Amino acid sequence: TGCRVCLTRNMSSSPPRLQGCMSAWIIDQYGSNGVLKYTEETTVPTISSATEVMIKVHAVSLNPLDVAMRGGYGAKLLKLRRDPLSVMDNDTEFPLILGRDLSGVVVDCGSGVTHFALGDEVWAAVPPWKQGSLAEYVTLTEYEVSHKPKVLSHIEAASIPYVANTSLSALVNGGGLCRDSSSNKRVLITGGSGGVGTFAIQLLKAWGAHVTVTCSQNAVGLVRGLGADEVLDYTAGDVVEQLEMMEKFDVVFDGVGGDTEEWAMGLLKPWSGAKYVTLVTPLLLNTDSMGLLDGTLNAGFSLQSKAIQNLLSSGVFYRWGFYAPDGPALDEVSKLVDAGKILPVVEAQFSFTQVPQAFQKLEKGHARGKTVVRVA
Ligand code: NDP
Repeated sequence: TGCRVCLTRNMSSSPPRLQGCMSAWIIDQYGSNGVLKYTEETTVPTISSATEVMIKVHAVSLNPLDVAMRGGYGAKLLKLRRDPLSVMDNDTEFPLILGRDLSGVVVDCGSGVTHFALGDEVWAAVPPWKQGSLAEYVTLTEYEVSHKPKVLSHIEAASIPYVANTSLSALVNGGGLCRDSSSNKRVLITGGSGGVGTFAIQLLKAWGAHVTVTCSQNAVGLVRGLGADEVLDYTAGDVVEQLEMMEKFDVVFDGVGGDTEEWAMGLLKPWSGAKYVTLVTPLLLNTDSMGLLDGTLNAGFSLQSKAIQNLLSSGVFYRWGFYAPDGPALDEVSKLVDAGKILPVVEAQFSFTQVPQAFQKLEKGHARGKTVVRVA
């Protein structure tokens, strides 16, 4: 191979840029775990605009989205987002690098970067339409990046950005909650023991909310330890009856989907601005199966009809929550982590050679926090 990362000055670019090849896990077709391939021949993602930073990746965590994207989930919509005008020479998304979270060190900065310098320790959640973090280097705009909490190792830090950006986007934009408006608000989190749940419990407790969580019996100790006020074992069978006997909620934050909305809407305070926000939405599945236009229209119609129906019948808002890239939001999380209010929950660690095993672990489900891969 012989082709590695080096500093190169070409006539058109000054200062010198890192160029060459790097190690990465790529896929060049969608499928099961067998499509994951290790290579040392991936081109380093050189800085191409003034506001970009290039990061040497030290650790990555995996999300259910990585397993889904490996199988082609969201391919149509993400392809449109990558190349809205279909101008790219290469008509394919392959080779595709998966991995959304990273913790690492800045190794190169565009000329307009103001918040970061070489050597800064950073963390970020890479948007799904960009090349992912299961690689030696990633290039992002500085708006997508944040200084990593000082008290965390790279392994610990990598467990947080994607679930943090998702929780913040969904709870703030969908749930109408924030640091100053959450005091004593009653929030129900379904799926409290996974990546999103273990983060959201701690964020909401840091904001002063009252947090009720559903999880399996063997995760009760974990979520209580993270600060949940009330914990209900959903495998016990009578979880809905137990929830119905409790005081009603201001926000339901749903990370489980399925039939949850059928019983959880009725747990919200009627006619008081209460909100149901679910992360499990049909948008990408619809665009994959029906095409971009029909899929988006169908998802939009389903969202609107549920929203109108719930608003008219009980004055409750029905919303979908999504991950959104947001470095400044991670800055706020960084402060909460450094203040000891949010702890990383790393369930399993794998080396860079064990990425397929890390995917296998994730595919088994029953996450208790996050699965992290050490890269450097
Ligand atoms: P994880 O796989 O990390 O966690 C899911 C957790 O839910 C597990 O701990 C699982 O444990 C638990 N669980 C499963 N069934 C139930 C149930 N019926 N009631 C309560 N808990 C249950 O996933 P994430 O936390 O990362 O994500 C949660 C969901 O949100 C996923 O579907 C994900 O795809 C989605 N998501 C959507 C985003 C968006 O932009 N819309 C962004 C991020 C996530 P056990 O099975 O042992 O109970």
